[in-house]
Amino acid sequence: MKACYWVVGAFILILSACTETGNNAPYKGTETKIFLGSGGTTGVYYPTAGAICRLVNQRRSRHGIKCAAESTGGSVYNINSIRSGELDMAIAQSDWQYHAYRGTGKASFRDAGPFLDLRSVFSVHPEPVAVLARADSGIATVGDLVGKRVSVGVSGSGTRNFWESMWKKMGYSYGDLKETTGLKSPDTPKALCDNRIDAFFWLVGNPSGINKQTTTMCDAVFARVEGTFVNELVSEYSYLRKAVIPGGVYPGNPDDVPTFGVGATFIASTAVSDETVYQVVKAVFENFQTFKRLHPAFARLRKSEMIKDSLTAPLHAGAIRYYKEAGLM
Ligand code: GLU
Repeated sequence: MKACYWVVGAFILILSACTETGNNAPYKGTETKIFLGSGGTTGVYYPTAGAICRLVNQRRSRHGIKCAAESTGGSVYNINSIRSGELDMAIAQSDWQYHAYRGTGKASFRDAGPFLDLRSVFSVHPEPVAVLARADSGIATVGDLVGKRVSVGVSGSGTRNFWESMWKKMGYSYGDLKETTGLKSPDTPKALCDNRIDAFFWLVGNPSGINKQTTTMCDAVFARVEGTFVNELVSEYSYLRKAVIPGGVYPGNPDDVPTFGVGATFIASTAVSDETVYQVVKAVFENFQTFKRLHPAFARLRKSEMIKDSLTAPLHAGAIRYYKEAGLM
């Protein structure tokens, strides 16, 4: 009789091993490689994409997805590369997500027409406009940039494209600056501290490497970005919000500085399978405390906000599958 119990017990054990859910069972199919677009190495996009890939790759034996993060020119480059199929997923500003989906906002997006296959996955950190100027430049507000030497971002960045529409809205053109440059983020702090530029303009999360390096290397202060043009833009576009550069985060900048900005969002297209997006989202959301510790700009993230705030393209079906399964939707 005892032997019989043992046989039944062993049978149940084997059966439960065979019916083990996909969660922990080793993955046996072919490997899927995904490439994530980010930004310059001293921004926040680059470590964000790196953090996502790190969590995805930790579970590689379970889902067979290998994730690699690439440094790129930024939002607009990333969206165009998702459209052309060179990148699978990427980080991009909420304003350019909005315009790409609708085929509005800038000439190249209008020419290409609405990018209807673009999909939101989740939003990440806020990106307030930063105007960081040499302390001896006399620049206290964004309007003081007139007649100055300013770096306004590389050509594929969301920053530069944002700058162009904002500066125009303020009633200015490029000719109103003494000199316009588009320095890469790693070259910018030294250019400012060596007095080759008076200020730089950037849409980036806080704290960021670029702002930290600059304010540590020399005396630099954030200029206020406020006025009628900000009020009008914020009431016109749902993806814009008033914000502050938080005080006490960077040396020599003890007080909050008023500004406005966008949100960083994680995007894909319908070309990426539901299963892949599901696994990527699951890797981040099921290791959320670890994810938040991977960069200080993530400290205030909340899942409930990340699945809706700043997202203007439809959610990817793979993301919806996870959010429903996790009871977030
Ligand atoms: N928002 C920036 C852009 O697309 C990139 C910021 C970052 O790299 O963190 O231009």
